[in-house]
Amino acid sequence: MFLSAVSPTFLSSAPYHVPTHSGSHNSPSGLKTCATWQDRRNARPVPDHDSRPILKVLPPLVTSMPILPRLLPLLVSSVFLLTLQAENLPGIRHFVVIGCDGMSPDGIEHSKTPVMHGLMEHGSFTLHARAVMPTVSSPNWASMIMGAGPEQHGITSNEWETNKIEIEPIVRGSGGMFPTIFGLVREQKPTAYQAVFHDWDGFGRLFERASVNQIEHPEGPTNTIDRAILALKEHHPEFTFIHLDHVDHAGHTFGWKSPEYYAAVEVADRLIGQVVDALKQHGMGDDTVLLITADHGGKGTHHGGFTMEEIEIPWILTGPGVKPGHSLKTFVNTYDTAATIAYAFGLQPPAGWIARPVTEAFEKVK
Ligand SMILES: [Zn+2]
Repeated sequence: MFLSAVSPTFLSSAPYHVPTHSGSHNSPSGLKTCATWQDRRNARPVPDHDSRPILKVLPPLVTSMPILPRLLPLLVSSVFLLTLQAENLPGIRHFVVIGCDGMSPDGIEHSKTPVMHGLMEHGSFTLHARAVMPTVSSPNWASMIMGAGPEQHGITSNEWETNKIEIEPIVRGSGGMFPTIFGLVREQKPTAYQAVFHDWDGFGRLFERASVNQIEHPEGPTNTIDRAILALKEHHPEFTFIHLDHVDHAGHTFGWKSPEYYAAVEVADRLIGQVVDALKQHGMGDDTVLLITADHGGKGTHHGGFTMEEIEIPWILTGPGVKPGHSLKTFVNTYDTAATIAYAFGLQPPAGWIARPVTEAFEKVK
């Protein structure tokens, strides 16, 4: 019923090439390699804690002064605080990830997926991105948001729980766990609204819940998308993460490559189209980066093994400054998703991340 409302050419009407970039952001080479991402974070102003006591003692000393000089310390400290707020890439205000559990590249290619094909036409993509080993859900959703693999974050199976750890994370962030993109956004964009809608309950234990403004676990794909769309309308979140589970269910029940599996991918395509339409309808169509991806593929009625069908995942990025119709040459691993979101938001990666932002997907800043 929603198919007619879905526009596969979502991006065609949107000014996804940012014509001019102000010099406020970065050097022209800043978008090219992860090495410059590293340079960029090194160049970012570091808070000077020594200046704080000086600001604190100033007001009593200046009470007899005219109003402007008295306000000066306040102005200085406001500017100081503003410099702490991370700066997005030009034209980007929002980032939405839609992750479809178990959605293989084969599923997209062999079912009717006009929305995802439209996004590929207008964005940068690869159908040969890779999951991490083992090709099961928890390690892969964790890696996607943690910018690292199981060797670093220690989540090796679906048995993992916050109080049931076999391999210790190499670092723990502010949330007491391996740092995710949600914690990173909270630390470096304190006022950002973050929202998570996950159809699989297990996703809810993989991130710093205190960092996210809105977390919902609706039942089923339609409810999940409906709730996410309501949040887009009401809150215009800076960062929205949507997890859909029904494609994986179809794979386990009927088999990957089965007609029922392909039908489930088509449902995902329609639901993604609803999000695309909602972004446009609620004024976010021009300044939102949208990523469509998955945690793993599958073979037969299973995944978790060592086959290309299980390890390859789609990675489709669209939005302001994203190259249109561009087939990515860069090797993309699922953990690069976290780094790419961080890159778009101008965030410094935390210790422990091994991911690199997929800078090839973005137009060169002029
Ligand atoms: Zn999964």
